[in-house]
Amino acid sequence: MSGTIVIVGAGHAAGQASASLRQKGYTGRIVMVGEEAFVPYQRPPLSKKFLAGELKIEQLYFKPENFYPDKDIELRLSTRVTNIDRAARNVSLDNGETLEYEKLLLCTGGHVRKLETPGSNLAGIHYLRSIEDVLEIQKSFKAGTRLVIVGGGYVGLEVAAVAVERGLDVTLLESEDRVMSRVTGAEVSRFFQRRHREAGVRMEFGRLVEGFRGDGTIAEVVCADDSAIAADLCIVGVGILPNTDIAEDAGIECDDGILVDECCQTSDPDILAAGDCTKHPSSIFERTFRLESVHNAIEQGKTAAATICGERTPYNQAPWFWSDQYDIKLQIVGIHLGCDNLVVRGDPASNSFAAFYFIGNRLMAVDAINSPREFMLGKKLVTAKATFDLSELADESNDFKELATAALNTAG
Ligand SMILES: Cc1cc2nc3c(=O)[nH]c(=O)nc-3n(C[C@H](O)[C@H](O)[C@H](O)COP(=O)(O)OP(=O)(O)OC[C@H]3O[C@@H](n4cnc5c(N)ncnc54)[C@H](O)[C@@H]3O)c2cc1C
Repeated sequence: MSGTIVIVGAGHAAGQASASLRQKGYTGRIVMVGEEAFVPYQRPPLSKKFLAGELKIEQLYFKPENFYPDKDIELRLSTRVTNIDRAARNVSLDNGETLEYEKLLLCTGGHVRKLETPGSNLAGIHYLRSIEDVLEIQKSFKAGTRLVIVGGGYVGLEVAAVAVERGLDVTLLESEDRVMSRVTGAEVSRFFQRRHREAGVRMEFGRLVEGFRGDGTIAEVVCADDSAIAADLCIVGVGILPNTDIAEDAGIECDDGILVDECCQTSDPDILAAGDCTKHPSSIFERTFRLESVHNAIEQGKTAAATICGERTPYNQAPWFWSDQYDIKLQIVGIHLGCDNLVVRGDPASNSFAAFYFIGNRLMAVDAINSPREFMLGKKLVTAKATFDLSELADESNDFKELATAALNTAG
């Protein structure tokens, strides 16, 4: 294949795919179209060091700016793809241009879920997905500012950690009864809640936000029981939705994500997709999922590039993710939902422990808190579908590495 490859989106997955295509020796034309103004950049620092003002914009870049011209990768930034014409094999851009493709790769990521409540258009209410969002937030991210965070997911918690360390007055509202309920178990949630409260974050649970009040600018966040929390600044982090609009309009199969196989192929043989926008099968977990993680974006970017180059290298890895809050690194591998057994090793009070989640005696997920060894071995164990004698694992006089090695040998 030597025709034009058009990549829609210029995020992590797109950046990786374009680099992998050239690495694999693809010499044809590559055009990457991204609606943001920046070359592909890393989003994780947005709610961590970049928000804290410790990184410059250029330090976020996935590759230096000159990488793309050097590798003959054409970039169309601040440009949106508005339509895919599958019969004619071309895409329309919002600048009036049309680009023909031999293969099209959709790396469109996701967009924040917005609260459509009374007062949601007031100034001072922000979402956090892009560099531009952080630059806006930073204008009022000052000591003494009363910040209300809506949502106790990893973005809300990372923002809370940075904010309270910068001297903001922080309240976090969560509608569930604990933080990070979508991604971790209750033991780990309790640990992070304690850590945030010790740092000075007020955390309120079962608080469903129903609106905002203010005279042009936010003054109060209003909850379902009509109670109000005073706010100068509000950051909402209640999840993202996949960007599937152009794929759906073109008749490509979607279901809470663009449906792809393990080689990133969509229902159209000339169109692939990678990253947060996709839903893919996993034979490790015997189900499909849509993941929002750098690991997934990078690996699917590589896989899509391989598929385009005619190599079948199915992507089938245990998903993993990390979050940095204060001096704590949380590393998660696998999926804890549906698990019925839990073993905790280490003492949460020591700030270093690991939670192992099981269905029966099969290990499905590990949450490692300042425990890199448990995380590294956990990745291998979850991938190998390893099983354990739970009482042996719970007995901390048994060395974890020895138990893990034995479980890996048994799993073959
Ligand atoms: C604040 C924050 C913190 C995070 N922290 C972590 C972390 O600690 N660890 C971790 O693993 N993951 C983290 N993530 C998630 C991770 O950043 C994402 O999973 C990853 O960026 C996904 O990459 P992607 O390329 O699929 O999508 P994106 O990075 O979303 O890129 C998609 C791009 O496509 C563009 N686009 C969409 N539609 C079009 C169109 N029609 N035309 C042109 N362009 C289009 C979008 O504007 C966007 O720029 C974090 C995310 C955020 C927002």
